[in-house]
Amino acid sequence: AQLTGPGQLFEMEEIGDTGVRTWKHAPASYRALLEMSRFHGEKLFLVYEDEHITYEDHFRRAATLANRLVDDYGVRKGDRVAVAMRNYPEWVIAFSAALAAGAVAVPLNAWWTEAELAYGVSDSGAKVLIADAERAERLAATGVPMIVVRGAATGGARTFAEVLGEITADVTLPEVELSPDDPATIFYTSGTTGNPKGALGSHRNIGQAPMTVAYGMMRAATMAGKDPGAAAGARRVTLLTVPLFHVTGCFSAMTATMFSGGGLVLMYKWDPEQALRLIERERVTGMIGVPTNAWQLMSHPDFGKYDLSSLVTLGYGGAPAPPKLLERITESLPDRAPSNGYGMTETSALAIGNGGADYRAKPDSIGLPVPVVDVRVVDPMGAELAPGEVGELCLRGPNVILGYWNKPEATAETFVNGWVHTGDLARIDEDGFVYIVDRAKDMVIRGGENVYCAEVEAALFEHPAVDDAAVIGVPHDELGEEVGAVVRLKPGATATKAGLQEFLAGRLAKFKIPVHVWFRAGELPRNPGGKILKTRLRREVLGTAES
Ligand code: AMP
Repeated sequence: AQLTGPGQLFEMEEIGDTGVRTWKHAPASYRALLEMSRFHGEKLFLVYEDEHITYEDHFRRAATLANRLVDDYGVRKGDRVAVAMRNYPEWVIAFSAALAAGAVAVPLNAWWTEAELAYGVSDSGAKVLIADAERAERLAATGVPMIVVRGAATGGARTFAEVLGEITADVTLPEVELSPDDPATIFYTSGTTGNPKGALGSHRNIGQAPMTVAYGMMRAATMAGKDPGAAAGARRVTLLTVPLFHVTGCFSAMTATMFSGGGLVLMYKWDPEQALRLIERERVTGMIGVPTNAWQLMSHPDFGKYDLSSLVTLGYGGAPAPPKLLERITESLPDRAPSNGYGMTETSALAIGNGGADYRAKPDSIGLPVPVVDVRVVDPMGAELAPGEVGELCLRGPNVILGYWNKPEATAETFVNGWVHTGDLARIDEDGFVYIVDRAKDMVIRGGENVYCAEVEAALFEHPAVDDAAVIGVPHDELGEEVGAVVRLKPGATATKAGLQEFLAGRLAKFKIPVHVWFRAGELPRNPGGKILKTRLRREVLGTAES
């Protein structure tokens, strides 16, 4: 059953006569959410190591930076401001400032190499970059004005502290008119054709996401036998285990926290031991991340040594969650509310979720769509299929983004009449529960991080010895999948696994580099259209020795 209470919080309304429903009480823009968050005043918002930042602190810093972006950098509505850093509090402040100034925030992947970052900056046409010292070094060659966080500024760059100057209590946000359909974010999601695509999200997308998360959390808590009132009223402290530059971190954790007035505990990078320590120290009530995080937390040798009694909710998604994970949580962390959420960059995070008794009854399902989301499964011609039949999962809702930045063809292919084609193969059962059966898109999900095969293949083809190459997912217990490559060399050419890896290191972020390489003398299996038959190839090489 769907949850309708409490009160009118989860009321819905149609957007015009589009057939799309939205949460009636969702903030209309990120700016509105930021203004609302100021009412949480002296409550703690961000925790990073020994730094504690209240809602009022955050608002003042974000508002001050927003004014500086407008006055010193000439940022106007619609200009792009890129943020490239680890999960520091300044990430949140920079993101808030960019959006409050009316700009489009462009979170860049912190693991990207210099070449990948340069692509993100030029593709988005960023006017200003806000980066930590490590990213600043990798971004220096772009020549775009830069504000440096946690480090010295070289060249024409300025430090964060220098730009902020004096922060006063009476600071106000710069004047700018925003409507729900105005663009707000560009998150990069790897493309099927090599380069990543910018997913252009709107202020509406941002505004409704925290409502969707609140709904999902309350439903999961209610169904796990927890009092929804208490779950809503109690102070939530969320441990963020994934990067803020992904929608799971930014929306399911960060903006959802801001909306609820809770605390968000940040980590420089995911580390299960530090996570255990932080849950105990900060009395964390919920964890948001990918399935791998929950798995590694429970597998840590010191798991039993920490007081994890504060932990109530364990939310994960972004990658398939093996049913074994739920069993493991039931054993190691009994009496909690685990939930599996399905979403993608194109749906501004959470779209379908499974929690509580439903999740225990159907642990292999991603659950029911949140009430503002419509789902259907279609055949290759786009015709809707009956329950039980497998086809491509399509979604519609106020969370679906505007399209891809400057990519009209890719946009037209993926977004059809308001429905986003997910590239995931799914079926829906008689009760409306959705099951992801396979991925139609050629992608490996390594510990929640997507790796598009085409991008790695394109980089492999740049190697002079490579004649043909195919990238595949190799099953891995903890990470879900690892990256593998099957490579055919040119006649007479030689190359080694280590040599290929080294070659790729300059071109691709580390998580994309194949850890398994199979060299092959013969042709790779292809269909008549020339497309590599990956399922067959995987079957052929998995379990055989790499050579
Ligand atoms: P991204 O845009 O990086 O968030 O990746 C979205 C993709 O991750 C989806 O299209 C799915 O293939 C996969 N995914 C996300 N959440 C889940 C989940 N709960 N179960 C299975 N696959 C998922």
